[in-house]
This record gives sequence, C-alpha cells and structure tokens, in this order.
Amino acid sequence: MKTEIPKGKYLGTLCKRGHEWENSGGSLRLSSTRNCVYCMALRRKTKKYKELQYRSGVKLRRLNRDRYNGYARTHYHAHLEESRAKGRNRGRKEKAVRAVRYKKYYALNRESINCKNREQRKKASVGLDDSYIRQILCLRSKIKAEDIPRELIDLKRITLKIKRLLWEIQNG
Ligand SMILES: [Zn+2]
Repeated sequence: MKTEIPKGKYLGTLCKRGHEWENSGGSLRLSSTRNCVYCMALRRKTKKYKELQYRSGVKLRRLNRDRYNGYARTHYHAHLEESRAKGRNRGRKEKAVRAVRYKKYYALNRESINCKNREQRKKASVGLDDSYIRQILCLRSKIKAEDIPRELIDLKRITLKIKRLLWEIQNG
C-alpha cells in the first residue's frame, strides 16, 4: 500500500458507490460510524443534510437560550434588591445617554425642531387636543399633567368651546 491510512479511519469493504481507496479494492471508512469517507463528504453537500444540520443548530441554540434565561431568572430573584438597583441604574444611564444624544440632535436641527413643535402646539390648540387641555389645566395648579382625570379634561374642553364660541359671536 502506498499511503498510510489516516487516524480514525480504516480500510473496509468497498462502498455501494464504489469509492475505492488507492487501488486497494476497499473503501476508506470512518472507525466511529463505519461510513465511507467519500460518501460522507458527498452527503454533507446535499440540501437535506444541510437543513438537518441547520435545524439541529437552531434546536441547540434554543435549548441554550432557555437554559440561560432560566439561570438568569433564578439569579434575578435570588438577588432581588441588587438586581432591581442594577436595573434602575441601567435605566438612568440609558436616559442620560438619550438626553446627550437628543441635545446633539437638537443643536444640529434647532430650527426645524422648533418649527415642528410650534406647529404641533398650534394644531393641538386648534383641535382642543388632550395634550393642550392638560397643559392649560396645570398652568395654575400643582397637579401634574398626567394626573389630571379624564372627566376634568372633557369638562374643560366644553368650557373652552363655549369661550371660543362667545368670542366668535362678539367679534363676528
Ligand atoms: Zn463511498
């Protein structure tokens, strides 16, 4: 024999496709599975084999993810206070990053942003939007805009409508 048989392989009977090894009359086979090495190489190139590999990869990744998430959840609850503090800290950091980013964005687009905001406010005031009414209601009070109850907004909208109507009647 000219070539030494590679490690993990052996010279077996000729495979069904007739992949002969070095004129030996037999096929080079994998010791672990007894499959012909060249048949395996061909199989690896088929679509079906690739799909199978892909699917088992996906399954493995999913399994790992579930395992990881389970671990993370357990850790979170075991160190609840610490985890919550971490979460808050992260939230604050992200908020600060967003604020810096917006500041830069605002510096570059001051004109268009101001213009857009003005238009939005005007539209809200003409349409008596909730945002506009909330703003008016908290002008002279300590209540926060988001704490104003729904009924109050609806009532304020009606009084504003009456005022506008009166103004229109008086001014033609
Ligand atoms: Zn073969």
